[in-house]
Amino acid sequence: MNFSSKLLEGAVAEFAKLPGVGQKTALRLVLHLLNQDKDDVERFSTAINKLRNEIQFCSVCHNIADQPVCEICSAPKRDRSLVCVVEDTRDVMAIENTSQYNGLYHVLGALISPMDGVGPADLEVDSLIERLRTDEVKEVIFALSATMEGDTTIFYLHKRLKDFDISISTIARGIAFGGELEYVDEITLGRSITTRVPYESAITR
Ligand SMILES: [Zn+2]
Repeated sequence: MNFSSKLLEGAVAEFAKLPGVGQKTALRLVLHLLNQDKDDVERFSTAINKLRNEIQFCSVCHNIADQPVCEICSAPKRDRSLVCVVEDTRDVMAIENTSQYNGLYHVLGALISPMDGVGPADLEVDSLIERLRTDEVKEVIFALSATMEGDTTIFYLHKRLKDFDISISTIARGIAFGGELEYVDEITLGRSITTRVPYESAITR
């Protein structure tokens, strides 16, 4: 693309770094911003700056939060005997939207993927083990996508968790086949949590 302005070119180059955004879309977004009020654009850039600089990760569950301990972990009404293990904050949002789950979460931050060079050490596993040692957890629920990475991660975690005196269950994973939790509709996802199955029987089925 031949740009009439270096500033325009620079902004387009930044937008084009976003996932799923090509040069043409980036240019459309940038021109759109140029048509907005300066105040609106200021709010937009402030929101992004604050997001990157001020956001925290909950020291208990690693979910994205505004405080050192997230609202879910600090809510007195949540069932502290249940911990649902998910990949990232989108899964927490999807499960919260179902209103069918009242336990806590543990956000791994990634799934094991040897092809992409992501190993167990890149996931928040040690802190999960630590929670099982010190907290009053009675059941761990795996809610990971039904992909090879999800399967590999559950297999690994199950090995690490099996000596603890806790139930290990998994959501009905046929529902998320080849997809990710955030794309499953709320009713189906909600049902798959309430009808979760023990992990052992899920693998021998
Ligand atoms: Zn938390």
